[in-house]
Amino acid sequence: MVKLPVMNKHRMVEVCYFCAIIVAFVLSLIHNNRVEASTDSKDYFTYLMESEEDAVSEVEDNFVESEEVAEDVQDNIKAMFEVVDNMVKYESVEKEILVQKGDTLISALTKAGITREAANKIYYSLKSDFNPSSLRAGQKIKTIMSVNTQDSTVPAELDYMVIDINPGERVITARNHDKFETFIEQDELIEKTEALHGVINGNLSKSMQNVGVPMRAVNNFINLFAYAVDFKRDVKKGDKFEIVYDSQVNKDDKLIKCGKIIYAGLVLRKQKIALYRYEDTKGGVDYYTAGGQALKRTLDRKPLAFRNARISSPFGRRLHPILKKHIIHWGVDYAAPHGTPIYAGGDGVVQAAKYNGGYGNYIKIRHNSEFSTAYGHMSRFAKGMRSGVRVTQGQIIGYVGSTGRSTGPHLHYEVIQNGKRVNPRTIKASTGENLSGQALNKFKQKVEQVNKEYVDAFSGQATAKLAQK
Ligand SMILES: [Zn+2]
Repeated sequence: MVKLPVMNKHRMVEVCYFCAIIVAFVLSLIHNNRVEASTDSKDYFTYLMESEEDAVSEVEDNFVESEEVAEDVQDNIKAMFEVVDNMVKYESVEKEILVQKGDTLISALTKAGITREAANKIYYSLKSDFNPSSLRAGQKIKTIMSVNTQDSTVPAELDYMVIDINPGERVITARNHDKFETFIEQDELIEKTEALHGVINGNLSKSMQNVGVPMRAVNNFINLFAYAVDFKRDVKKGDKFEIVYDSQVNKDDKLIKCGKIIYAGLVLRKQKIALYRYEDTKGGVDYYTAGGQALKRTLDRKPLAFRNARISSPFGRRLHPILKKHIIHWGVDYAAPHGTPIYAGGDGVVQAAKYNGGYGNYIKIRHNSEFSTAYGHMSRFAKGMRSGVRVTQGQIIGYVGSTGRSTGPHLHYEVIQNGKRVNPRTIKASTGENLSGQALNKFKQKVEQVNKEYVDAFSGQATAKLAQK
Protein backbone atom coordinates (compact mmCIF):
# COMPACT_ATOMS: atom_id res chain seq x y z
CA MET A 1 0.00 0.00 0.00
CA VAL A 2 1.24 3.43 -0.89
CA LYS A 3 0.87 5.80 1.96
CA LEU A 4 -0.56 9.13 0.96
CA PRO A 5 0.84 12.14 2.70
CA VAL A 6 -1.49 13.36 5.38
CA MET A 7 -3.65 16.03 3.91
CA ASN A 8 -6.31 18.31 5.18
CA LYS A 9 -9.71 17.02 4.08
CA HIS A 10 -10.76 20.37 2.68
CA ARG A 11 -7.48 20.73 0.86
CA MET A 12 -8.08 17.36 -0.75
CA VAL A 13 -11.54 18.41 -1.91
CA GLU A 14 -10.12 21.59 -3.37
CA VAL A 15 -7.43 19.69 -5.29
CA CYS A 16 -9.99 17.18 -6.61
CA TYR A 17 -12.25 19.90 -7.87
CA PHE A 18 -9.40 21.69 -9.52
CA CYS A 19 -8.39 18.47 -11.30
CA ALA A 20 -11.99 17.83 -12.32
CA ILE A 21 -12.25 21.27 -13.91
CA ILE A 22 -9.05 20.84 -15.88
CA VAL A 23 -9.99 17.33 -17.03
CA ALA A 24 -13.46 18.55 -18.04
CA PHE A 25 -11.98 21.47 -19.95
CA VAL A 26 -9.48 19.31 -21.84
CA LEU A 27 -12.20 16.73 -22.60
CA SER A 28 -14.43 19.48 -23.94
CA LEU A 29 -11.68 20.76 -26.28
CA ILE A 30 -11.12 17.24 -27.66
CA HIS A 31 -14.84 16.78 -28.01
CA ASN A 32 -15.22 20.08 -29.80
CA ASN A 33 -12.53 19.21 -32.26
CA ARG A 34 -14.03 15.83 -32.99
CA VAL A 35 -17.62 16.87 -33.29
CA GLU A 36 -17.38 19.82 -35.53
CA ALA A 37 -20.24 22.23 -35.74
CA SER A 38 -22.35 19.94 -33.75
CA THR A 39 -25.61 21.56 -32.84
CA ASP A 40 -25.19 20.30 -29.31
CA SER A 41 -21.71 21.67 -28.90
CA LYS A 42 -22.80 25.14 -27.80
CA ASP A 43 -25.18 23.73 -25.21
CA TYR A 44 -22.54 21.33 -24.10
CA PHE A 45 -20.08 24.17 -23.57
CA THR A 46 -22.70 26.06 -21.52
CA TYR A 47 -23.20 22.92 -19.50
CA LEU A 48 -19.46 22.63 -18.93
CA MET A 49 -19.23 26.26 -17.91
CA GLU A 50 -22.10 25.84 -15.49
CA SER A 51 -20.58 22.79 -13.92
CA GLU A 52 -17.35 24.70 -13.58
CA GLU A 53 -19.18 27.53 -11.81
CA ASP A 54 -20.85 24.98 -9.50
CA ALA A 55 -17.50 23.49 -8.74
CA VAL A 56 -16.04 26.89 -7.97
CA SER A 57 -18.92 27.81 -5.63
CA GLU A 58 -18.60 24.50 -3.88
CA VAL A 59 -14.92 25.14 -3.36
CA GLU A 60 -15.87 28.55 -2.00
CA ASP A 61 -18.39 26.94 0.39
CA ASN A 62 -15.73 24.58 1.57
CA PHE A 63 -13.43 27.49 2.15
CA VAL A 64 -16.05 29.19 4.36
CA GLU A 65 -16.48 25.95 6.25
CA SER A 66 -12.77 25.58 6.81
CA GLU A 67 -12.64 29.16 8.08
CA GLU A 68 -15.31 28.23 10.63
CA VAL A 69 -13.22 25.26 11.70
CA ALA A 70 -10.26 27.56 12.13
CA GLU A 71 -12.37 29.82 14.33
CA ASP A 72 -13.38 26.82 16.45
CA VAL A 73 -9.75 25.88 16.87
CA GLN A 74 -8.97 29.43 17.88
CA ASP A 75 -11.76 29.36 20.46
CA ASN A 76 -10.41 26.13 21.88
CA ILE A 77 -6.93 27.55 22.16
CA LYS A 78 -8.38 30.62 23.85
CA ALA A 79 -10.25 28.42 26.36
CA MET A 80 -7.08 26.46 27.02
CA PHE A 81 -5.24 29.66 27.72
CA GLU A 82 -7.97 30.70 30.12
CA VAL A 83 -7.61 27.40 32.01
CA VAL A 84 -3.85 27.87 32.20
CA ASP A 85 -4.41 31.50 33.21
CA ASN A 86 -6.76 30.42 36.03
CA MET A 87 -4.27 27.83 37.14
CA VAL A 88 -1.80 30.64 37.57
CA LYS A 89 -4.34 32.89 39.33
CA TYR A 90 -5.96 30.27 41.59
CA GLU A 91 -4.08 28.46 44.23
CA SER A 92 -5.26 25.50 46.25
CA VAL A 93 -4.85 26.53 49.87
CA GLU A 94 -5.31 24.50 53.05
CA LYS A 95 -7.15 26.62 55.58
CA GLU A 96 -8.16 25.78 59.13
CA ILE A 97 -11.18 27.70 60.38
CA LEU A 98 -11.44 28.08 64.13
CA VAL A 99 -15.09 28.34 65.16
CA GLN A 100 -15.52 31.45 67.30
CA LYS A 101 -18.06 32.07 70.03
CA GLY A 102 -21.44 32.86 68.43
CA ASP A 103 -20.41 31.45 65.04
CA THR A 104 -22.70 29.30 62.95
CA LEU A 105 -21.34 27.11 60.18
CA ILE A 106 -22.46 29.69 57.63
CA SER A 107 -20.95 32.67 59.45
CA ALA A 108 -17.66 30.79 60.00
CA LEU A 109 -17.47 29.94 56.28
CA THR A 110 -18.40 33.41 55.04
CA LYS A 111 -15.82 34.94 57.40
CA ALA A 112 -13.25 32.65 55.77
CA GLY A 113 -14.11 34.13 52.35
CA ILE A 114 -16.75 31.72 51.05
CA THR A 115 -19.80 33.30 49.41
CA ARG A 116 -23.07 33.16 51.30
CA GLU A 117 -24.57 31.20 48.43
CA ALA A 118 -21.87 28.51 48.57
CA ALA A 119 -22.03 28.43 52.39
CA ASN A 120 -25.78 27.77 52.16
CA LYS A 121 -25.19 24.93 49.70
CA ILE A 122 -22.57 23.44 52.02
CA TYR A 123 -24.98 23.75 54.96
CA TYR A 124 -27.70 21.84 53.14
CA SER A 125 -25.29 19.21 51.88
CA LEU A 126 -23.98 18.66 55.41
CA LYS A 127 -27.34 18.59 57.18
CA SER A 128 -28.27 14.97 56.48
CA ASP A 129 -25.03 13.61 58.01
CA PHE A 130 -24.17 16.19 60.63
CA ASN A 131 -26.12 18.79 62.56
CA PRO A 132 -24.32 22.06 61.73
CA SER A 133 -25.72 23.73 64.85
CA SER A 134 -23.79 21.24 67.00
CA LEU A 135 -20.59 23.12 66.07
CA ARG A 136 -18.98 24.61 69.17
CA ALA A 137 -16.59 27.49 69.71
CA GLY A 138 -13.02 26.23 69.58
CA GLN A 139 -13.81 23.47 67.10
CA LYS A 140 -11.71 23.40 63.94
CA ILE A 141 -12.96 23.08 60.38
CA LYS A 142 -10.24 21.88 58.03
CA THR A 143 -10.69 23.07 54.44
CA ILE A 144 -9.03 23.15 51.05
CA MET A 145 -10.01 26.27 49.10
CA SER A 146 -9.28 27.69 45.67
CA VAL A 147 -8.10 31.23 46.29
CA ASN A 148 -7.54 33.89 43.63
CA THR A 149 -4.00 35.07 44.27
CA GLN A 150 -4.19 38.06 41.94
CA ASP A 151 -7.56 39.47 42.85
CA SER A 152 -8.48 39.37 46.51
CA THR A 153 -12.01 40.61 45.78
CA VAL A 154 -12.81 37.31 44.06
CA PRO A 155 -14.41 35.04 46.70
CA ALA A 156 -12.62 31.84 47.61
CA GLU A 157 -14.17 28.56 46.59
CA LEU A 158 -14.39 25.69 49.01
CA ASP A 159 -13.24 22.41 47.46
CA TYR A 160 -13.01 20.16 50.50
CA MET A 161 -14.06 20.42 54.14
CA VAL A 162 -13.46 18.12 57.10
CA ILE A 163 -15.15 18.35 60.51
CA ASP A 164 -14.17 15.86 63.20
CA ILE A 165 -17.26 14.39 64.84
CA ASN A 166 -15.71 11.86 67.19
CA PRO A 167 -12.21 10.54 67.62
CA GLY A 168 -11.57 8.54 64.44
CA GLU A 169 -14.75 9.79 62.78
CA ARG A 170 -15.25 12.83 60.56
CA VAL A 171 -17.75 14.33 58.16
CA ILE A 172 -16.37 15.34 54.76
CA THR A 173 -17.94 17.72 52.25
CA ALA A 174 -16.43 17.85 48.76
CA ARG A 175 -17.26 20.11 45.84
CA ASN A 176 -18.34 18.51 42.61
CA HIS A 177 -18.68 21.39 40.10
CA ASP A 178 -21.48 23.57 41.55
CA LYS A 179 -22.71 20.96 43.99
CA PHE A 180 -21.46 19.69 47.32
CA GLU A 181 -21.44 16.07 48.43
CA THR A 182 -21.14 14.98 52.03
CA PHE A 183 -20.14 11.66 53.52
CA ILE A 184 -18.90 10.23 56.80
CA GLU A 185 -15.45 8.71 57.09
CA GLN A 186 -14.48 6.38 59.91
CA ASP A 187 -11.07 5.06 60.79
CA GLU A 188 -10.74 1.35 61.00
CA LEU A 189 -9.85 0.68 64.61
CA ILE A 190 -7.36 -1.88 65.85
CA GLU A 191 -7.69 -3.31 69.35
CA LYS A 192 -4.46 -3.20 71.29
CA THR A 193 -3.27 -3.92 74.78
CA GLU A 194 -0.64 -1.51 76.03
CA ALA A 195 1.78 -2.34 78.81
CA LEU A 196 3.77 0.60 80.18
CA HIS A 197 5.79 1.23 83.28
CA GLY A 198 8.15 3.82 84.67
CA VAL A 199 9.75 5.53 87.59
CA ILE A 200 7.85 8.26 89.41
CA ASN A 201 9.81 11.46 89.28
CA GLY A 202 7.94 13.93 91.46
CA ASN A 203 4.54 14.02 89.85
CA LEU A 204 2.86 10.64 89.20
CA SER A 205 0.52 11.94 86.51
CA LYS A 206 3.38 13.61 84.59
CA SER A 207 5.66 10.60 85.00
CA MET A 208 2.96 8.37 83.50
CA GLN A 209 2.28 10.74 80.63
CA ASN A 210 6.00 10.93 79.93
CA VAL A 211 6.10 7.25 78.99
CA GLY A 212 2.99 7.63 76.84
CA VAL A 213 0.10 6.68 79.12
CA PRO A 214 -2.91 8.66 77.84
CA MET A 215 -4.53 11.13 80.23
CA ARG A 216 -7.71 9.09 80.50
CA ALA A 217 -5.79 5.99 81.64
CA VAL A 218 -3.74 8.12 84.04
CA ASN A 219 -6.92 9.42 85.68
CA ASN A 220 -8.43 5.94 85.93
CA PHE A 221 -5.20 4.65 87.43
CA ILE A 222 -5.10 7.39 90.05
CA ASN A 223 -8.78 6.92 90.87
CA LEU A 224 -8.21 3.20 91.37
CA PHE A 225 -5.56 3.86 93.99
CA ALA A 226 -7.25 6.89 95.49
CA TYR A 227 -8.86 4.63 98.10
CA ALA A 228 -5.67 2.85 99.04
CA VAL A 229 -2.93 5.43 98.68
CA ASP A 230 -2.45 8.98 99.84
CA PHE A 231 -0.48 10.19 96.84
CA LYS A 232 0.94 13.23 98.57
CA ARG A 233 2.22 11.33 101.57
CA ASP A 234 2.88 7.77 100.35
CA VAL A 235 4.32 8.20 96.87
CA LYS A 236 7.98 9.20 96.78
CA LYS A 237 10.44 10.01 94.04
CA GLY A 238 11.88 6.77 92.67
CA ASP A 239 8.73 4.72 93.26
CA LYS A 240 7.39 2.87 90.22
CA PHE A 241 4.13 2.48 88.40
CA GLU A 242 2.98 -0.30 86.08
CA ILE A 243 -0.10 -0.28 83.88
CA VAL A 244 -1.74 -2.62 81.36
CA TYR A 245 -4.77 -1.21 79.54
CA ASP A 246 -6.88 -1.79 76.46
CA SER A 247 -6.88 0.75 73.69
CA GLN A 248 -8.13 1.28 70.18
CA VAL A 249 -5.78 2.83 67.65
CA ASN A 250 -6.27 3.85 64.02
CA LYS A 251 -4.14 2.66 61.12
CA ASP A 252 -1.53 5.35 61.91
CA ASP A 253 -1.25 3.95 65.44
CA LYS A 254 -2.93 7.06 66.83
CA LEU A 255 -4.89 6.43 70.02
CA ILE A 256 -8.62 6.78 69.41
CA LYS A 257 -10.10 5.23 72.48
CA CYS A 258 -8.54 4.29 75.75
CA GLY A 259 -10.31 1.38 77.33
CA LYS A 260 -10.23 -0.42 80.62
CA ILE A 261 -7.30 -0.89 82.89
CA ILE A 262 -6.48 -4.61 83.07
CA TYR A 263 -3.73 -4.28 85.61
CA ALA A 264 -2.46 -1.44 87.77
CA GLY A 265 0.62 -1.63 89.95
CA LEU A 266 2.32 0.78 92.28
CA VAL A 267 5.72 -0.19 93.61
CA LEU A 268 6.19 1.96 96.69
CA ARG A 269 9.30 1.81 98.77
CA LYS A 270 7.60 -0.18 101.50
CA GLN A 271 5.21 -2.28 99.44
CA LYS A 272 3.81 -3.23 96.08
CA ILE A 273 0.12 -2.76 95.44
CA ALA A 274 -1.08 -4.75 92.45
CA LEU A 275 -4.67 -4.67 91.24
CA TYR A 276 -6.25 -6.89 88.60
CA ARG A 277 -9.52 -6.31 86.84
CA TYR A 278 -12.16 -8.98 87.08
CA GLU A 279 -15.57 -9.12 85.48
CA ASP A 280 -18.02 -11.54 87.06
CA THR A 281 -20.61 -13.59 85.18
CA LYS A 282 -23.21 -10.86 85.73
CA GLY A 283 -20.98 -8.23 84.15
CA GLY A 284 -20.04 -6.57 87.42
CA VAL A 285 -16.49 -5.23 87.37
CA ASP A 286 -14.10 -4.69 90.23
CA TYR A 287 -10.39 -4.73 91.01
CA TYR A 288 -8.72 -7.26 93.27
CA THR A 289 -5.29 -8.08 94.62
CA ALA A 290 -3.57 -11.13 93.10
CA GLY A 291 -5.08 -13.19 95.93
CA GLY A 292 -8.64 -12.11 95.06
CA GLN A 293 -9.10 -9.60 97.85
CA ALA A 294 -11.35 -6.73 96.95
CA LEU A 295 -9.93 -3.27 96.67
CA LYS A 296 -10.75 -1.54 99.92
CA ARG A 297 -13.09 1.16 98.81
CA THR A 298 -13.25 3.76 101.46
CA LEU A 299 -15.25 6.88 100.84
CA ASP A 300 -13.14 9.22 98.81
CA ARG A 301 -11.53 11.74 101.14
CA LYS A 302 -11.01 14.28 98.41
CA PRO A 303 -13.64 13.72 95.71
CA LEU A 304 -12.15 16.10 93.16
CA ALA A 305 -10.58 15.77 89.74
CA PHE A 306 -7.88 18.05 91.10
CA ARG A 307 -6.07 15.59 93.39
CA ASN A 308 -3.61 18.20 94.60
CA ALA A 309 -6.34 20.49 95.89
CA ARG A 310 -5.28 22.06 99.16
CA ILE A 311 -7.45 22.20 102.29
CA SER A 312 -8.47 25.81 102.65
CA SER A 313 -10.45 25.15 105.80
CA PRO A 314 -10.31 21.98 107.92
CA PHE A 315 -13.07 20.23 109.78
CA GLY A 316 -13.87 21.58 113.24
CA ARG A 317 -13.83 24.86 115.14
CA ARG A 318 -12.69 27.88 113.18
CA LEU A 319 -13.19 31.60 112.65
CA HIS A 320 -15.70 31.97 109.87
CA PRO A 321 -14.26 34.30 107.18
CA ILE A 322 -17.62 35.97 106.42
CA LEU A 323 -19.49 35.73 109.72
CA LYS A 324 -16.30 36.73 111.64
CA LYS A 325 -17.07 34.52 114.59
CA HIS A 326 -16.00 31.12 115.87
CA ILE A 327 -18.24 28.37 114.63
CA ILE A 328 -17.86 24.69 113.98
CA HIS A 329 -17.00 23.85 110.37
CA TRP A 330 -18.90 20.67 109.60
CA GLY A 331 -16.89 19.71 106.57
CA VAL A 332 -13.58 20.11 104.80
CA ASP A 333 -13.01 22.88 102.26
CA TYR A 334 -10.83 22.10 99.29
CA ALA A 335 -9.73 25.11 97.25
CA ALA A 336 -9.83 24.23 93.55
CA PRO A 337 -10.21 26.14 90.30
CA HIS A 338 -13.73 27.10 89.25
CA GLY A 339 -15.20 24.28 87.13
CA THR A 340 -13.04 21.45 88.55
CA PRO A 341 -15.12 18.23 88.35
CA ILE A 342 -16.45 16.92 91.65
CA TYR A 343 -16.78 13.14 92.05
CA ALA A 344 -19.26 11.09 94.00
CA GLY A 345 -17.32 10.03 97.11
CA GLY A 346 -18.76 6.54 96.87
CA ASP A 347 -21.50 4.48 95.20
CA GLY A 348 -24.95 5.59 96.27
CA VAL A 349 -28.20 7.35 95.54
CA VAL A 350 -28.64 11.12 95.19
CA GLN A 351 -30.89 12.37 97.99
CA ALA A 352 -30.81 16.06 97.12
CA ALA A 353 -29.55 18.15 94.22
CA LYS A 354 -30.75 21.71 94.75
CA TYR A 355 -29.86 25.23 95.85
CA ASN A 356 -29.59 25.03 99.62
CA GLY A 357 -29.07 28.44 101.32
CA GLY A 358 -25.50 28.99 102.49
CA TYR A 359 -24.41 25.75 100.79
CA GLY A 360 -25.32 27.18 97.39
CA ASN A 361 -25.73 24.45 94.81
CA TYR A 362 -25.74 21.34 96.94
CA ILE A 363 -25.82 17.57 96.46
CA LYS A 364 -26.30 14.91 99.09
CA ILE A 365 -25.65 11.23 98.40
CA ARG A 366 -26.71 8.31 100.60
CA HIS A 367 -24.15 5.48 100.34
CA ASN A 368 -25.57 2.93 102.76
CA SER A 369 -27.41 2.79 106.05
CA GLU A 370 -24.36 4.26 107.77
CA PHE A 371 -22.82 6.84 105.46
CA SER A 372 -23.90 9.82 103.40
CA THR A 373 -21.84 12.61 101.83
CA ALA A 374 -22.71 16.22 100.97
CA TYR A 375 -21.14 18.70 98.56
CA GLY A 376 -21.58 22.49 98.57
CA HIS A 377 -20.93 25.70 96.60
CA MET A 378 -20.99 23.97 93.20
CA SER A 379 -21.03 26.22 90.14
CA ARG A 380 -23.40 23.73 88.52
CA PHE A 381 -24.58 20.13 88.67
CA ALA A 382 -23.52 17.43 86.23
CA LYS A 383 -26.18 16.47 83.69
CA GLY A 384 -28.97 14.29 85.09
CA MET A 385 -28.27 14.95 88.78
CA ARG A 386 -31.54 14.88 90.72
CA SER A 387 -32.81 13.10 93.75
CA GLY A 388 -33.28 9.34 93.26
CA VAL A 389 -30.48 8.96 90.70
CA ARG A 390 -27.90 6.23 91.35
CA VAL A 391 -24.25 7.25 91.13
CA THR A 392 -21.00 5.32 91.28
CA GLN A 393 -17.81 6.25 93.05
CA GLY A 394 -15.73 8.61 90.94
CA GLN A 395 -18.64 9.67 88.75
CA ILE A 396 -18.77 13.43 88.07
CA ILE A 397 -21.72 14.93 89.94
CA GLY A 398 -20.95 18.65 89.58
CA TYR A 399 -18.32 21.35 89.29
CA VAL A 400 -16.48 23.55 91.77
CA GLY A 401 -17.92 27.03 92.20
CA SER A 402 -18.60 29.68 94.79
CA THR A 403 -22.38 29.71 95.13
CA GLY A 404 -24.00 30.35 98.52
CA ARG A 405 -21.97 31.66 101.46
CA SER A 406 -18.49 31.43 100.00
CA THR A 407 -15.47 33.67 99.51
CA GLY A 408 -13.97 31.88 96.51
CA PRO A 409 -14.23 28.69 94.45
CA HIS A 410 -13.95 25.62 96.65
CA LEU A 411 -15.65 22.34 97.47
CA HIS A 412 -17.26 22.04 100.86
CA TYR A 413 -17.33 18.29 101.56
CA GLU A 414 -19.19 16.63 104.41
CA VAL A 415 -19.32 13.01 105.51
CA ILE A 416 -22.35 12.07 107.55
CA GLN A 417 -22.08 8.90 109.66
CA ASN A 418 -25.26 7.67 111.35
CA GLY A 419 -26.74 11.16 110.98
CA LYS A 420 -23.72 12.94 112.49
CA ARG A 421 -21.21 14.95 110.49
CA VAL A 422 -17.72 13.54 110.92
CA ASN A 423 -14.24 14.47 109.72
CA PRO A 424 -13.84 13.19 106.14
CA ARG A 425 -10.09 12.96 106.71
CA THR A 426 -10.29 10.32 109.40
CA ILE A 427 -13.23 8.11 108.43
CA LYS A 428 -12.76 4.40 107.89
CA ALA A 429 -15.50 3.02 105.71
CA SER A 430 -14.96 0.15 103.34
CA THR A 431 -17.05 -1.86 100.95
CA GLY A 432 -16.33 -4.56 98.40
CA GLU A 433 -16.36 -8.33 98.74
CA ASN A 434 -13.48 -10.75 98.28
CA LEU A 435 -13.62 -13.40 95.56
CA SER A 436 -14.20 -17.01 96.51
CA GLY A 437 -15.03 -20.43 95.03
CA GLN A 438 -15.30 -20.68 91.26
CA ALA A 439 -14.95 -16.94 90.72
CA LEU A 440 -11.66 -17.00 92.61
CA ASN A 441 -10.37 -19.89 90.46
CA LYS A 442 -11.29 -18.09 87.28
CA PHE A 443 -9.74 -14.89 88.55
CA LYS A 444 -6.48 -16.64 89.46
CA GLN A 445 -6.20 -18.05 85.93
CA LYS A 446 -6.66 -14.55 84.59
CA VAL A 447 -3.98 -13.19 86.94
CA GLU A 448 -1.53 -15.87 85.81
CA GLN A 449 -2.17 -15.03 82.16
CA VAL A 450 -1.79 -11.25 82.67
CA ASN A 451 1.40 -11.79 84.68
CA LYS A 452 2.92 -14.09 82.08
CA GLU A 453 2.00 -11.81 79.19
CA TYR A 454 2.84 -8.40 80.67
CA VAL A 455 3.56 -7.99 84.34
CA ASP A 456 6.54 -10.37 84.60
CA ALA A 457 8.27 -8.33 81.90
CA PHE A 458 7.99 -5.19 84.03
CA SER A 459 9.86 -6.62 86.98
CA GLY A 460 12.26 -8.40 84.59
CA GLN A 461 13.22 -5.08 83.09
CA ALA A 462 13.27 -3.43 86.47
CA THR A 463 15.65 -6.09 87.76
CA ALA A 464 17.83 -5.75 84.68
CA LYS A 465 18.02 -2.00 85.23
CA LEU A 466 18.93 -2.44 88.86
CA ALA A 467 21.64 -4.95 87.91
CA GLN A 468 23.20 -2.42 85.56
CA LYS A 469 23.60 0.17 88.29
ZN1 LIG B 1 -16.92 24.68 104.09
